[in-house]
Amino acid sequence: MGVYRVVGTMSWRLVAHKSAWRRLSPALFRCFSVKPSVRDCTALLYRNHGEPSQVVQLETLQLPPLENNSVVVKILASPINPSDINMVQGTYAILPDLPAVGGNEGVGQVLEVGCNVKTIKVGDWVIPRDAGLGMWRTAAVLNADDLVTLPSEIPLLSAATLGVNPCTAFRMLTDFENLKPGDTVIQNAANSGVGQAVIQIAAAKGVHTINVVRDRPDLPQLTERLKAIGANHVIKEETLRRPEMKELFKVCPRPKLALNGVGGKSATELLRHLQSGGTMVTYGGMAKQPVTVPVSSLIFKNVKVRGFWVTQWKRDNRHNGEALGSMLNELCTLIRTGKLSPPSCTEVSLKDFHKALENAMKPYISTKQVLVM
Ligand code: NDP
Repeated sequence: MGVYRVVGTMSWRLVAHKSAWRRLSPALFRCFSVKPSVRDCTALLYRNHGEPSQVVQLETLQLPPLENNSVVVKILASPINPSDINMVQGTYAILPDLPAVGGNEGVGQVLEVGCNVKTIKVGDWVIPRDAGLGMWRTAAVLNADDLVTLPSEIPLLSAATLGVNPCTAFRMLTDFENLKPGDTVIQNAANSGVGQAVIQIAAAKGVHTINVVRDRPDLPQLTERLKAIGANHVIKEETLRRPEMKELFKVCPRPKLALNGVGGKSATELLRHLQSGGTMVTYGGMAKQPVTVPVSSLIFKNVKVRGFWVTQWKRDNRHNGEALGSMLNELCTLIRTGKLSPPSCTEVSLKDFHKALENAMKPYISTKQVLVM
């Protein structure tokens, strides 16, 4: 634990009455608000909503005092996710008060803990419990209740990208259909962070995946990469409308579950291939097009059309620590046993944030930009 300097009038009084200072128990002394030994941080801040490359700036911020229930965290790595971009643009479902530090996800190491903090210790690796903490910075003073510790031995990039995409994939594969080994899941945006987690978690459960990606010049390499992490079938968006699909369903059952991160035509095509009574879960809308549900799918196949938002799930389960804890434990076990690797990532230093933000918004980039502090 670092050496604390008592702030404000209390520090003057303590200096003035040295004998009283000596009589104070060390525990009591530590319970005053103190300045953390790390005094400031470098952060990616935005004062207005707009295009990320124009409104996000690198600034030095002073850290607030360390309170009894807070911890000082050195942020180690934080990805740039589509929701972070949408938050900066002002188009996301939840928006922070401005000015705000960007970044909803990431991993940090605890440097100091307030005297009432019992669940986290110095040296622990922590990730946010909810969105909105602002992780694109070198250090932060955060409420201990807003953080979750991770089991040790998790590689940095896995830890930095664990809290959003793998949790989303895990919940969607668990909460909507009772999937058994040999069942099939179909998903679009299969090369996304969520998609790569779906492939790996499904493969670990013995569930087959049909993975839909957009056509591109390097499709063979992308297909190979997705197959290497457990994808059973990788197809282009256009193939969804072709007779080849009938051939595919001769070798694997029609999907019980469709996962839609795109919307528009792509979602409609996923729906058409579901088995009767199956479910399509929409979790993203990368094409910015509404989902059209064919009437025949509803009447003759009785498909279920659902949505999922991991932030809501975490909020609903905030006081049910076991639900989040057991999911993270399962995911970390998959990581330790080599069954769940992080998505393909490009590590970028904080000062190169302009490039990272631009790349995060480019199509066909197939790699997650991760700010490494
Ligand atoms: P990534 O940044 O890792 O990947 C983006 C994906 O979107 C790529 O597969 C990309 O394909 C695809 N894409 C981009 N633009 C389009 C387009 N116009 N049409 C079709 N596909 C497109 O994303 P994440 O995995 O982090 O997130 C994916 C989506 O899921 C986002 O919408 C995100 O907000 C959402 N999400 C939702 C969560 C929830 O709880 N509901 C949780 C986590 C993510 P290509 O390579 O072809 O460009």
